[in-house]
Amino acid sequence: MMRRIGLLGGTFDPVHHGHLRSAVEVRDLLGLDELRLIPSARPPHRPQPGASAEARLAMLQLAVDRCAGFIVDDCELRREQLSYTADTLESLRAELGENVVLFLILGWDAFCGLPNWHRWESLLQLASLVVLQRPEQDSELPEALKNLMAARSVTVTDDLAAHGQIICLSQTPLAISATQIRGLLSAGRSARFLLPDAVLDYIETHGLYRP
Ligand code: ATP
Repeated sequence: MMRRIGLLGGTFDPVHHGHLRSAVEVRDLLGLDELRLIPSARPPHRPQPGASAEARLAMLQLAVDRCAGFIVDDCELRREQLSYTADTLESLRAELGENVVLFLILGWDAFCGLPNWHRWESLLQLASLVVLQRPEQDSELPEALKNLMAARSVTVTDDLAAHGQIICLSQTPLAISATQIRGLLSAGRSARFLLPDAVLDYIETHGLYRP
């Protein structure tokens, strides 16, 4: 059987239990050999209210310590310029070869916005998409994706190809966001139990997200 690798990108500013629980569920439902968390660089021209790339990476590493199969991949932070997902997938394909199933993990809202992404149609030539569904999902699927969904959808029990398929998975909903955590901390309130203790300790030690 081909190795199965899941890819979850985000700013992770900071990583929290919403990210981690959903990553664990995807790993177990798809029988992933590896789940890579890929922190994204921030556009230099936008306001940068949160933590540095170095701190976001350090917090991710603390969060996945002892979590079987989880790997933090800093490929987007090492590049000179901002990465498009298509470029990241291309470099991962080059690194891992054709004989690996790659799953790009996306929330429903991100999936609905896919037609606005750079070279979005090439994504399915590089990976399969795992679309995470939530009960309160409000974005409507654009026309451009309806046919694609109908043609490419498979379930976890089907034969999985190295790329080109779409799998929808339901998740335990955890309404946690990094925005909420930054808001609590900047108001001097506690964020305990929304994120791993080791990450919160790092935030406190380094004085991040303070008022
Ligand atoms: P922010 O509040 O700063 O926008 P965020 O908490 O949404 O951040 P991101 O780093 O932007 O986190 O998210 C990375 C990925 O994790 C995205 O695909 C996003 O859909 C997913 N994600 C974020 N929060 C949750 C959650 N509570 N449950 C499941 N998936 C989540």
